[in-house]
Amino acid sequence: MDFQTTVAFYLEGERQGPGSTEYTKQAISLAQLPQGQTLQVADIGCGTGASTMVLAQEINATVTAVDIFPAFLKVLDEKAKQLGLEDRVKTLSGSMESLPFRKESLDVIWAEGAIYNMGFERGVTQWRPMLKLGGVLAVSEITWLTSKRPQEIQRYWDNQYQEIATAHDKISILSKAGYQLLGYFVLPSSCWMQNYYGPMEKRFDSFLKAHGHSQEAMQLVEENKEEMRMYQMHHQYYGYGFYIARKS
Ligand code: SAH
Repeated sequence: MDFQTTVAFYLEGERQGPGSTEYTKQAISLAQLPQGQTLQVADIGCGTGASTMVLAQEINATVTAVDIFPAFLKVLDEKAKQLGLEDRVKTLSGSMESLPFRKESLDVIWAEGAIYNMGFERGVTQWRPMLKLGGVLAVSEITWLTSKRPQEIQRYWDNQYQEIATAHDKISILSKAGYQLLGYFVLPSSCWMQNYYGPMEKRFDSFLKAHGHSQEAMQLVEENKEEMRMYQMHHQYYGYGFYIARKS
């Protein structure tokens, strides 16, 4: 898949993955962050910054928003300016697999719908040294919600992301990696349908037109339609679990 086409497609969305302001705030409240000092927060795989803006507004912090695609960061910078948050939001273009943060320099590592790009276990393990002791990790991650599920959805996810697992398994990975769970909840389906797939669906036609119905553009639309169809049919079996944990 050609990156430019993919980035152009996701760039238009308010957010690049399921989520909402309300649930970012809920995760912040579960993080029990210290008051008083200015915290150092990194929002990893930030996209165009849906969660970054909430973090910068809700926490007394400097937020470094990290993404591999500079085009997303450009939009993010503009959003921060419009909201008068440019002094508290910095952007950094680079890979989540080689973050430049110093050892024990971060109070909070945030990642909504992004850690799957390097895998949950690798992410929580490799990022941990950059957190201060007592610092908080907050990530949303695809999670099985039941112990059994139809073969169709099992196969779909086996192909998409083999690390999908139950919350029990995710929480034990966190605890083995040296974190203590502070909170967990599942994003409701409105975070997927109203906030993510709904607006995306409206962009399909204009996107295909703008890209002259290229093979890449058609493939991207088909893949997203399939992903949405799976979610509509099988959302009782999986969702985004939001894990809030403290470095212990
Ligand atoms: N957190 C945002 C975006 C989620 S989509 C939101 O909730 O809206 C996942 C994001 O991870 C995309 O913006 C993508 O560009 C970014 N990404 C993918 N691979 C990455 C990598 N290796 N390093 C950093 N960012 C990456």
